[in-house]
Amino acid sequence: MDLVKHILLIFVFMPIYFSFSFQIHLTSNQSSSLRSRILELANDPGTVNWMKKIRREIHEHPELAYEEFKTSALIRSELYQLGVAFRWPVARTGVVARIGSGSPPFVALRADMDALPIQELVDWEHKSKIDGKMHACGHDAHVAMLLGAAKILQQLRDELQVTVILIFQPAEERGVGAKDMIQEQVLENVDAIFGMHVVTQYPTGMVASRPGNFLAGCGSFKAKINGKGGHAGIPQQSIDPVLAASTSVISLQNIVSREADPLDSQVISVAMVQAGSANNIIPDSATFAGTFRAISKKSFHDIRKRIEEVIIGQTAVHRCSAEVEFDGDDHPTIPPTTNDERIYELVSQVSSKIVGEENTKLAPLFTGSEDFAFYLDKVPGAFLLVGMGNENIGSIYPHHSPYFVVDEDVLPIGAAIHAAFALSYHSYSTTNSDFE
Ligand SMILES: [Zn+2]
Ligand SMILES: [Zn+2]
Repeated sequence: MDLVKHILLIFVFMPIYFSFSFQIHLTSNQSSSLRSRILELANDPGTVNWMKKIRREIHEHPELAYEEFKTSALIRSELYQLGVAFRWPVARTGVVARIGSGSPPFVALRADMDALPIQELVDWEHKSKIDGKMHACGHDAHVAMLLGAAKILQQLRDELQVTVILIFQPAEERGVGAKDMIQEQVLENVDAIFGMHVVTQYPTGMVASRPGNFLAGCGSFKAKINGKGGHAGIPQQSIDPVLAASTSVISLQNIVSREADPLDSQVISVAMVQAGSANNIIPDSATFAGTFRAISKKSFHDIRKRIEEVIIGQTAVHRCSAEVEFDGDDHPTIPPTTNDERIYELVSQVSSKIVGEENTKLAPLFTGSEDFAFYLDKVPGAFLLVGMGNENIGSIYPHHSPYFVVDEDVLPIGAAIHAAFALSYHSYSTTNSDFE
């Protein structure tokens, strides 16, 4: 039977699954047993081995942004075997699955699927089989954990008081996947969203997040300064774009040092300057480009506006004109990742029940960026860092390192937290009761 028929059959039969769902209110004892059942299901040796197998299969066949066809097919095949309905293709390779009655509230859980153009330098049994491509950010683990959550939630679907939307998203590394998924209506009716990232900064079994501002927004800009070229020994006959570019670069540094609150972290760096071809010719134009980052949404917005104003103003002083571009194809602007404070509280409570209160930390601000921020711009949600640092197996290298190693013990932890978030959302949002 071909895949299209499979998919059609799933949609035909899913209402039967959905009809088993009903609304219940958890008492303390019931929720206690629910937590134990989640942990039991997540740590079931069969499920753990299944998640490892999925993660290793994806790791061996890494696919870059928007090329995640095999990964997507694997996800669909596993969802099909779990009896979970899904929609595909969404944003080319993305998959959106659904578990629950189809009634509100809707809770979304997200995993990203893409790999990086890096040659893996870790020698192990399941090393990347594709030269120059590697899952060096742990997105293979994210997929396995979300499929693990799908399995747990499918087994506990009678306990679900929400409709769970499972988002398998392409192209996070290019910073465009989330945006494209949103354009394809994946957040329609969604009340809250939750996502996580594995990190080696925290040991396996520890999690960290923070309310409000969390990760920096990241943007890039490119400016072309137009003057009038001529002989460098007769400058009065030219309009010098090199001088205009130079004063622009210096003035940009005044934005952070003179206009920004020193306690509100911001960065502007000009990292590329190009002009001219000889020491005695004033060129027609000069180009420079750089990056800017800010932790708060307001500062991120303000800094972008000021970059343009300063370049255009400084250029005009020197009788030149400027064209300033943001959102380059290779470096799209990603807004700051800002956690909703209420959802953060829930995530914090839920994850502390899974990993223990002593292992649930308040994360510092990070200057890294995540395209999960696009979802958080649209609906309340929270992003969590899940520790997988483990010196014994070499899981100590940062993201995007060719030596990046995932401690697979993180898989059941991530799956359990995803599932626990979905299973506790309704009681939390209606009664604010604890998930015990
Ligand atoms: Zn990455
Ligand atoms: Zn990543």
